[in-house]
Amino acid sequence: MGFMDGRRFIFQGDRLWLPLEEGPREPGVPLEPQACLRLPEGHVALRVAEDHPRPEGVEALGLRDAFPRMDTGDWARAGRAYQWLEWEAGHRFCGACATALEPCEGHGRRCPACGRTVFPSNATAIIVLIQRGAGTVRELALARSPHFKPGVYSAIAGFTEPGESLEQAVQREVAEELGITVQNLRYFGSQPWPFPNGLMVAFTAEHLEGELRPDPAELEDARWFSLDDLPPLPAPLSIARWMIDAAVAESQRRTT
Ligand SMILES: [Zn+2]
Repeated sequence: MGFMDGRRFIFQGDRLWLPLEEGPREPGVPLEPQACLRLPEGHVALRVAEDHPRPEGVEALGLRDAFPRMDTGDWARAGRAYQWLEWEAGHRFCGACATALEPCEGHGRRCPACGRTVFPSNATAIIVLIQRGAGTVRELALARSPHFKPGVYSAIAGFTEPGESLEQAVQREVAEELGITVQNLRYFGSQPWPFPNGLMVAFTAEHLEGELRPDPAELEDARWFSLDDLPPLPAPLSIARWMIDAAVAESQRRTT
């Protein structure tokens, strides 16, 4: 049945076609994808050219803009589809000898010349929500990147480096970006982050030492915010927001 038996996620560049093709499987214009992948869970990821005609009523939206328009499960599957398409687009040739790669078992690709194989991977990043204070005067260390929407502050995040543990990455990022140290690191959860190929591993931590000194190369500002007087926060699609919401709920639970 080809593409007919799983849900299709069609991307035009980094934008997803919405609505998803649920009813009639033909989009009304002949679909000529540049890339087509069957995902492990049976869905299909397609990418069409920037100038590919779109069917009537179909919009192309970035994943962040698509979030409020989609079921959260579909949004997560669309992000997964996007990550696989991106991986495939960036792994067409052997990194060692530049020969064109061929498909191999396990969703990987193999070089027919030197035998090197590559498998879909992602970039692991840490994100950490730092708190200080006791009882009703809990504060969060939140920072502002110039890439954020105006006024928005969030938790500190950064990519891990080769040879580094998650705990070491947290301490390094916190020292580099904020000039402080933290303790009592606790795992909060994780989230695939398709911008473009991340896996966010989230922690909470307590402030240990140092005053906030935001790194001007990465941040516009960083401050301690009281839990009852928070700035504009990231959209509810991100694990940063889930952590902040959990901290607020925990503090409300303590005070009632
Ligand atoms: Zn090779």
